[in-house]
Amino acid sequence: MKRAYNFCAGPAAIPEPVLLMARDELLNWGESGTSIMEMSHRSGEFQRIAQEAESDLRDLMYIPDNYKILFLQGGASCQFAVIPMNLLRGKTTADYVRTGIWSHKAVEQAKPFCDVNIVADTMDKGYNYIPEFSSWTLNPEAAYLHYASNETVGGVEFFWIPETGDVPIVADMSSNILSRPIDVTQYGLIYAGAQKNIGPSGITVVIVRDDLIGDALPITPIPLNYAVQAQDASLYNTPPTFAWYLTGLVFKWLKQQGGPEGIAVINERKARKVYDVIDATDFYINAVAPDCRSWMNIPFQIHDRGMDKMFISEAADNGLLNLNGFRSVGGMRVSIYNAVPEEAVDALVIFMKDFEKRHG
Ligand code: PMP
Repeated sequence: MKRAYNFCAGPAAIPEPVLLMARDELLNWGESGTSIMEMSHRSGEFQRIAQEAESDLRDLMYIPDNYKILFLQGGASCQFAVIPMNLLRGKTTADYVRTGIWSHKAVEQAKPFCDVNIVADTMDKGYNYIPEFSSWTLNPEAAYLHYASNETVGGVEFFWIPETGDVPIVADMSSNILSRPIDVTQYGLIYAGAQKNIGPSGITVVIVRDDLIGDALPITPIPLNYAVQAQDASLYNTPPTFAWYLTGLVFKWLKQQGGPEGIAVINERKARKVYDVIDATDFYINAVAPDCRSWMNIPFQIHDRGMDKMFISEAADNGLLNLNGFRSVGGMRVSIYNAVPEEAVDALVIFMKDFEKRHG
């Protein structure tokens, strides 16, 4: 069986060794006689799987002991509301950076809970750059500052961390977590839906500094209360057990790749190969400012937009799948998360050059 090269933005490619391992263990995990899917989340076997995933993630990201790691449900979209519910801690305002569709959605969901101060905004200018930090209108009284470290639709990535003094930083890392090393201690909270760099959809990782939890708004539903889930090792209610198991396998695979340090070298090279083709001529266009071009998601168009659809369908005929842009944006988007092999990028680059030769 030949598997296609999958450039989907999410749910995205999963490392093949992980899929093979899951297949081998599907009917009978260990000596249990049952599938993981059939096992109690309170069983010793599952607790071992869960704890190992947590400690592997702690190792991979050098997460200090004063940070809790939660495995939750509801996706990153649910966190857009759950974060203000948990982190306002008696304050009434929060700072938000708006650099794309996802941080905009985070802003909209925070508004029912607090005054949202948008400290930097590129909404009216096409979401294709990050405003100079010196122009940000930070509020020292904010409960936190929220930003998306990688905008999955616009392909805008932060390669630096804002300096906010005592105001904790909250980062939506859904589409670039584990893609390169980051200093967790600079953050109050990091969150990510799993379905890009962590595993399958259905599980959301939240890494939160423990002094920030325990003062959730009274309306917070119990399973969404970070302090409760931290106390119960994310087992207050039934978690998505199979997704959790798969994320654990992905963490083990990533360790074998040298962790974020090892994979970052490959990720940078993969991205550069695609940008080099885009920049070589005027045929392909990527409008993102060079200093914040994402390593994970590369949106582009053909100068004659009439050709976009032909590109996507010819690419699919060549085994290069899911290159269509986000539904409201159109054009193309290449998502090259950790699990997309470099040979997939090489095949794409050959196809892009050939398409340009035939149609340019
Ligand atoms: N934030 C970012 C940066 C995303 O890319 C996405 C999904 N593509 C989300 C949030 C929303 O995630 P979910 O669909 O899991 O709620």
